[in-house]
Amino acid sequence: MRIIRTVRSMKRWSTDSQLRGDKIGFIPTMGALHAGHQSLLQRARRTCDRVVASLFVNPLQFGPAEDLTQYPRKLKQDIALCRQEGVDLLFIPSSQEIYPDDFQTIVMVAELSQRWEGQERPTHFQGVGTIVTKLLNLVRPHRAFFGQKDYQQALLVQRLVKDLSLPVKIVMCPTIRENDGLALSSRNTYLSREQREQATVLYSALKAGKAAIKKGMRSAGQICQIMKRLITNKHIMTIDYLAVCHPLTLEPLTSINGQVILLGALRLGNIRLIDNLLVHAPQDCS
Ligand code: AMP
Repeated sequence: MRIIRTVRSMKRWSTDSQLRGDKIGFIPTMGALHAGHQSLLQRARRTCDRVVASLFVNPLQFGPAEDLTQYPRKLKQDIALCRQEGVDLLFIPSSQEIYPDDFQTIVMVAELSQRWEGQERPTHFQGVGTIVTKLLNLVRPHRAFFGQKDYQQALLVQRLVKDLSLPVKIVMCPTIRENDGLALSSRNTYLSREQREQATVLYSALKAGKAAIKKGMRSAGQICQIMKRLITNKHIMTIDYLAVCHPLTLEPLTSINGQVILLGALRLGNIRLIDNLLVHAPQDCS
């Protein structure tokens, strides 16, 4: 496995691969890799000639009060895992390499970046849009793999790729979970033992919402009530949002018909958990 740390070498590598006609699969990450990331690496390995992963904790997507300096960094383990998964090239640029002092450009997806996570983290998605655009331009992959775990992020990347006519296919891969349903996340290491136990309530709430839809409930308001009711006084947490949304625009719905996405975000102390479930509600024929 080759490791590249500079923009210049990265560009040279992708030009050479393009000339060879290799089909490149790309997985951008912030490191502290876990089985969720691993599933993306494996999907790329199965479907592409060359697999490129990146490790970059992107300062632009963290708000001033967020956890940029504490974000888990496990470089040695990450390199070993990428090697084990058959990654061909690991791109590990420094912040200065990506954002030199004279850097001024921001990529923002106007509407999608304002909703849900965007309400809680106002500059987050312009950070995501900018880094993803830059990395796609450097790596020039045929396919880039993103997790459904961050559904709004994957949707936003699909939108920007379409709007800017970038020549890449964005593949959204399923969320990998712990046995008790908690979605894997690099930030789960922040949870105390008690918080870790409580954290499963988010997925339980989403599943309760899904079960109600499957039983025929079609009022989004009622579904939200069902999801909220599960988060009781014994859970020391705040609900940032629990919503029933259109799966492409993420607009909140009032009534349910066809495919919907259930989105949830909770706060335990200053640790945020997000999760989602896609649900198909059979069309109402009445
Ligand atoms: P991150 O390192 O958090 O920026 O995540 C890098 C990629 O891994 C993103 O596309 C995430 O959506 C994806 N990812 C993170 N957690 C999971 C998970 N539990 N299951 C599947 N994909 C995930």
